[in-house]
Amino acid sequence: EYLNMVGDWSDARVEPFGPLSLSPAAAVLHYAQEIFEGLKAYRHDDGSVWTFRPYKNAARMNRSAHRMAMPQLPEEAFVKALEELMARDGAWVPNGEGQSLYLRPFMIATEEFLGVRPARNFNFHVIASPAGNYFGGELKPVSIWVSRDFARAGEGGTGAAKFGGNYAASLAAQLQGASRGHDQVIFLDRSPEDSLEELGGMNVFFVTKDNKLITPKLTGTILEGITRDSILQLGKDEGLDVQERSITFNEWKDGVASGDIQEVFACGTAAVITPIGQVADLEEVHTTPSTDFPVANTLRNRLVGIQTGHEEDIYGWMHRLA
Ligand code: PMP
Repeated sequence: EYLNMVGDWSDARVEPFGPLSLSPAAAVLHYAQEIFEGLKAYRHDDGSVWTFRPYKNAARMNRSAHRMAMPQLPEEAFVKALEELMARDGAWVPNGEGQSLYLRPFMIATEEFLGVRPARNFNFHVIASPAGNYFGGELKPVSIWVSRDFARAGEGGTGAAKFGGNYAASLAAQLQGASRGHDQVIFLDRSPEDSLEELGGMNVFFVTKDNKLITPKLTGTILEGITRDSILQLGKDEGLDVQERSITFNEWKDGVASGDIQEVFACGTAAVITPIGQVADLEEVHTTPSTDFPVANTLRNRLVGIQTGHEEDIYGWMHRLA
């Protein structure tokens, strides 16, 4: 089912999943005013339904809206939409190990016109869809392709917005990587230094042998991942030396070759934490030294433990939906 909100955001209703009615001249179809979010609903052992840090998603959607000249949605209305959908659809949230219900809020420009200008009418919807684990199994290391031909986003662009066009821009790189047998793509900032940005749908982390936990800093060109932010906190709790800074592709290559970098992993709502076993460009394949990814496992277990209600939620990250 999905939740449908139009107009002043006050007339929300839950409807069976089905086609939308949209004018062929709707602005979203031509000028791509479209933003979205992704969250998961988890069923806890007592039957209650929870989600993870939804006000972070609400705030990020409003930042995306600001960048795309779209209207703000009050954070309370965003969270209430999830609650209303789960009040109706809560029974859909599965029980099984590693299972959850994926929630996809999105806003589109529905006004019909053919000139280039910001639209004035928008719909906000939330889709609920059962989700398994993103890459199939538990912590199976993935292989990453470095995109040299394509950028995902540039400075002053839309990279920090969760905006459909960014994903469209990443697909050609994704195809290139897939045709060479890789699971995911990582984008560089295309400066002479080749600083790392993020994967098509995940942020990236490095664990060094002297216990540093490093992730590219937020430059305005990458998505401010909520999993990323949470891992920075959990990493501190584990006593790691947490660093947000620019890190180059050469540091990755040299680090895994010398053993200074022991683990590499990607993170996001869908897969939580996924180890990166190798990274390849046209010239070479660079293999991550660790095969058992102990730090990635520890952080994943803590985060999944909080999300599934099996570990104490000391930061108040969980929000009860139903
Ligand atoms: N980067 C991109 C481009 C993404 O699409 C996502 C998924 N939302 C992430 C990073 C991770 O963000 P989060 O942890 O909030 O899911």
